[in-house]
Amino acid sequence: MTKPFFPTAAVSRLRMATDGEGITTLVCALGCPLRCRYCLNKFTWDENTKADRLTPRELYEKVKMDSLYFEATGGGVTFGGGEPLLYAVFFPEFRALCGTAWKMYAETSLYVPERNVRIAAQVMDGFIVDIKDTDSGIYRAYTGRELSAALENLKLLVTLTDPAKIRVRLPLIPGYNTEEDRLRSETILREIGVTRIEKFDYIVRND
Ligand code: SF4
Repeated sequence: MTKPFFPTAAVSRLRMATDGEGITTLVCALGCPLRCRYCLNKFTWDENTKADRLTPRELYEKVKMDSLYFEATGGGVTFGGGEPLLYAVFFPEFRALCGTAWKMYAETSLYVPERNVRIAAQVMDGFIVDIKDTDSGIYRAYTGRELSAALENLKLLVTLTDPAKIRVRLPLIPGYNTEEDRLRSETILREIGVTRIEKFDYIVRND
């Protein structure tokens, strides 16, 4: 059986309350099934990007230098990307190494197989879900993929995890959705049990 690994495209240390609580180290996965038009991390789906296929032990050794910061601030490791939940089988073994003293967070679109969501829900302390928009046409135009998988997984996640641990990011995306669309998305998200919604605006650079 293949050992779980995390294709690590980048590691960013000492982040303050940007992706998770406290001080975190962001670990970016290579690969993403979506093709968001304004993606800021296109390097994660560039086939020329080099990534280290780290085992749970190897990643643990790489990030443990900040263990004291994690423990003192209630922080830990945030898995981002790319799409980290593509590698959900990695997480239980990593949790077994770091214990509960470190927090584990995932920044995800939830555009992954349902099974991966179930695995991640068992070990993550929090999720930051980038849902984009809840209109299927807008989602398709912006990501190049279908909304249903991500939305169904969000509905599932709300039943598997304390909703207080799920932050859903709801962007205003220039050229794709409007404030009215976003209000409609907010209503839908609240209906399915999401309690933490973070609205923000994409800033599109023209260079
Ligand atoms: S989900 Fe994130 S990493 Fe993937 S294409 Fe969209 S913005 Fe980029």
